[in-house]
Amino acid sequence: MSQQSNILRNEEELLPEFNISIGQCLLMQLTTHGTRVAHINPHTGKEQTFQYILDTSRRLAVYLQREGLKVNDTIAVCSENNLEFCIPVCAAFYLGAIACPLNPLYSEREFKHALSISKPKYIFISTVSFNGIRKIFRELHWSPKILMLTDGNNNVSWASMYKVMSNVSIDDANALQPASVNLDDHVTAILCSSGTTGLPKGVMLTDKNITTVIRMYMNTNTIPENAVSLSLLPFFHAYSFVFMILTILRGNCSIIFSHFEEELFLQYIEKYKIEYMPMVPSLMVFLAKHPLVDKYDLSCVKTIWSGAAPLSKEIQQAVAKRLNMNIIDVKQGYGLTETTLAVLRSPDGKGKLGSVGVVVPGTLVKVIPIGEYETDKALGPNCEGELCFKGDLIMKGYYNDEESTRATIDKDGWLHTGDVGYYDEDGYFYIVDRIKELIKYKGYQVPPAELEAILLTFPGVQDAAVIGIPNDKTGELPMAFIVKEENSNICEKDIIQYVNERVSNPKRLRGGIRFVDSIPKTPSGKILRRVLRDRLKSKL
Ligand code: ATP
Ligand code: MG
Repeated sequence: MSQQSNILRNEEELLPEFNISIGQCLLMQLTTHGTRVAHINPHTGKEQTFQYILDTSRRLAVYLQREGLKVNDTIAVCSENNLEFCIPVCAAFYLGAIACPLNPLYSEREFKHALSISKPKYIFISTVSFNGIRKIFRELHWSPKILMLTDGNNNVSWASMYKVMSNVSIDDANALQPASVNLDDHVTAILCSSGTTGLPKGVMLTDKNITTVIRMYMNTNTIPENAVSLSLLPFFHAYSFVFMILTILRGNCSIIFSHFEEELFLQYIEKYKIEYMPMVPSLMVFLAKHPLVDKYDLSCVKTIWSGAAPLSKEIQQAVAKRLNMNIIDVKQGYGLTETTLAVLRSPDGKGKLGSVGVVVPGTLVKVIPIGEYETDKALGPNCEGELCFKGDLIMKGYYNDEESTRATIDKDGWLHTGDVGYYDEDGYFYIVDRIKELIKYKGYQVPPAELEAILLTFPGVQDAAVIGIPNDKTGELPMAFIVKEENSNICEKDIIQYVNERVSNPKRLRGGIRFVDSIPKTPSGKILRRVLRDRLKSKL
């Protein structure tokens, strides 16, 4: 790790630049992986090989090309995780078109918002997103074509992608030439941010962004070759979308879960001997605490990554212990949709408990005083501030939204994350919370994530979320929403006492506790505190 005037970089070498597009890269790699199994749907047992992905995606690309789809046109894929998801994505990449994955469970308002960002010419949908799309389809002010991702959908008037590509011969598919594009500048995907703090934003990722990720992971052991990997996190989220591309390129077999069911999740890890598991903290809490976990042999699991939201060191430790894993194999990554994938991650074999690790090669990081924007100041070790990143992983900008782009990437190219954190003397980072979520109590800043971590260690607490409730005298008071474990008879007084014994005075749970059935979260496992705040407001 080198540190110059408090700007940190990782001296590890990346692979040399590729100088080919992501589409060209995929075509090359898919050809080399041949007839090995790429994907298995554990719910149905259905499999597909790399060769099948290559053949099908090329045929679809030829069909779309004949229909006039061009470089920089957009297509949306609106589906839960399934074997078909990657087919239109690869096809778009070959043509230099822009892939826009979308949450199939968006509300009507969110669908309209997300679709109006990218205005796709084609929308590929699954039966899960069918109803949502059907309702808003007529209200869109352009006319996208809709294709179903799967065949055999009775009562559905839209054709399937398989049907429309059936006229493309395999010879025509083999002859497909990938589009040549400007690698530094060409947008290859528009991904929606999670919408944790408001409506989702359309993040433009370029070929350069994604090939930089490939240069980071292709020849390293960070994703071990041939490891069977878990695909449970939704593909429409950057973390899982980019990982899906990486596993195809690397030739890993992925077990693609369409949804999470406690028992099936554990059963399929055991059955398919899943070794490599990208996870989020809510799933980590499940592994750490749920009684079912002890019923299964999970010794196949070699590496777990947690990202997308804060993970406490207690849960990290509890997962390692329960799965009998070395703590350095339970890793953390930190990133934003705007940074393509993780920009901080536990280094191989050298993680520190509770830390999101060190900056990845090829990226710069600094911590600046909160509330400043275009500043030359960069804070030293152990000083909390806003994390900022620069380098080839940083998005091109928000699609058609220069104002938001300028408010996020400053004129020197630094992406301002809105997250508070600090690094230690060894350059290991610790995330405190989002600036927007910090609770203000008498001028003190209280990070809800810290209180949630403590609450989760209280026996009988299954899940917890903390927000600030307005208070005339103090500004805000920290208040907790708690989900009790089944048959637990924990009470408010004991929980508050437990927390208050472990925190400094301003962090005490002065706003009290409410018991609830569940905590609202995004599909990527982030607590939707704005929803809790709204609920509370409407109750009052
Ligand atoms: P929106 O920007 O639409 O409000 P979002 O920021 O949640 O939503 P994402 O891009 O999916 O959308 O998430 C990035 C954010 O997730 C980061 O800014 C950070 O707050 C949080 N995050 C990611 N990884 C970690 C981690 N390892 N620890 C703590 N927080 C994390
Ligand atoms: Mg964000």
